[in-house]
Parts: sequence; C-alpha cells; structure tokens
Amino acid sequence: MDSFDVIVIGSGPGGYVSAIRCAQLGMKTAIVEKYPKLGGTCLNVGCIPSKALLESSEHFFKSNHEFSEHGIMIDNIKMNLTQTMKRKEKIISEMHQGLGFLMKKNKITVFNGMGSFIDSNIIMVKNNQEEKKINGKNIIIATGSKPFSLPFFNMDKKRIITSTEILQLKEIPNNLTIVGAGVIGLELGS
Ligand SMILES: Cc1cc2nc3c(=O)[nH]c(=O)nc-3n(C[C@H](O)[C@H](O)[C@H](O)COP(=O)(O)OP(=O)(O)OC[C@H]3O[C@@H](n4cnc5c(N)ncnc54)[C@H](O)[C@@H]3O)c2cc1C
Repeated sequence: MDSFDVIVIGSGPGGYVSAIRCAQLGMKTAIVEKYPKLGGTCLNVGCIPSKALLESSEHFFKSNHEFSEHGIMIDNIKMNLTQTMKRKEKIISEMHQGLGFLMKKNKITVFNGMGSFIDSNIIMVKNNQEEKKINGKNIIIATGSKPFSLPFFNMDKKRIITSTEILQLKEIPNNLTIVGAGVIGLELGS
C-alpha cells in the first residue's frame, strides 16, 4: 500500500493549496479527486467560468450601451453564445494544465476516484476501473460543497437549474428568475 505523510481529499482551492503547501514543507503528499479534472467548484463550475462569462457579458453591455457615448459606433451587435462558451472552456482548460503542472512540480501524487475512510489512516480510492487503498499519517478533508436542492422545486436541471447548469447554457433565455440574491445569484443574473 502506498503511504503518504498527508492525503488531501478534494482538489478545490482548499485542497490543492493545502497539498502544495504540505509538499513545499517536505511532506510526501497525495491528493484524491472524484472528478476527472482537478480544481473543484472554483475552477470547473464556480469562480473561473462565472468570471469568464461575466467579462463577456460586460463587453456586450458596454458595446450596446456605452460605446456610442465615446463615439464608437457599431451596428448590429450580436452575442454568439457558442463562442462565448468556447472562450470560457479555453480558460478553464489552460488553468487545468497549470494545476497539473503544479502537482508535478511539487511531486504530489494525484489519485482519481472517490475517497472514503476505511479507518483513521487508510483511504479507499474508488473509480470505475479500480479500488485502491492508500495510507496517510495525516488526512485533510477538503471536499467542498454542492448546490442544495430545494424540496419544493423539481430540480430537473433543464428548466429549473443550479449555478452549475447555468454556466453551460446553449441559448440565452428570454426570462430568468434567480432564487437567492447572494453574490453568486447577483453575478449569474448579470
Ligand atoms: C457560480 C459560482 C461562482 C463563484 N465565484 C467565486 C468567486 O468569485 N470568488 C470566490 O472566492 N469564490 C467563488 N465561489 C465559491 C468557490 O467556488 C468556493 O468557495 C470554493 O470552490 C470552495 O473550495 P473548496 O476547496 O472548499 O471546495 P470545492 O471547490 O467544492 O472542491 C471540493 C472538491 O472535492 C471533491 N470531492 C468531494 N468529495 C470527494 C470525495 N469523497 N473524494 C474525492 N473528491 C471529493 C469535489 O469533486 C471537488 O472537486 C463561487 C462559487 C460558485 C458556485
């Protein structure tokens, strides 16, 4: 069984930053991630894609409402959502590469699969292909959070969607009601 000084479960900003720091401090470190890509909510379905889309919508807004004031006249401005999404995916993909590089550079072993505790030191990593046990002197749980399903909505992920699906829309909806006016709700509304 592979043994590590530290096993980090979850590769979001909480997980990958602590894994890098542990490795920098000389500890033999592993990170376990259940999704095929590292980066957690933030990189895959949170901060990064939402900011990429926000930048695009801001340009669109400015070109429609502010450019003429500067004497910049553009006719027939249209939004090509496919291209907007392509740009967002490119940004995510570049950051995935960056994260992969950081794992290698800091000699952090990456395990793809769902991590669960067998006992206080042994973690079972399970994916479609295999099950593997790894041993950690210390374990960091950085498993983050997921959108909460409200019991009175049928969250079909088509008409009633979460912050994850909205980042992959195929067309711009004519109307949208956002439940929740925190930072994420306001940002997605924009
Ligand atoms: C739309 C949106 C926009 C946001 N914008 C911002 C922003 O601008 N600025 C900001 O600071 N924050 C923002 N956030 C919040 C930010 O994404 C989270 O605070 C951050 O991702 C939390 O990091 P984390 O490492 O704790 O968890 P997560 O990023 O959720 O990562 C947890 C990881 O653990 C993995 N995992 C869970 N269980 C297991 C298991 N048993 N085995 C293996 N892996 C497991 C998950 O697959 C996931 O990859 C935004 C969130 C959303 C949804």
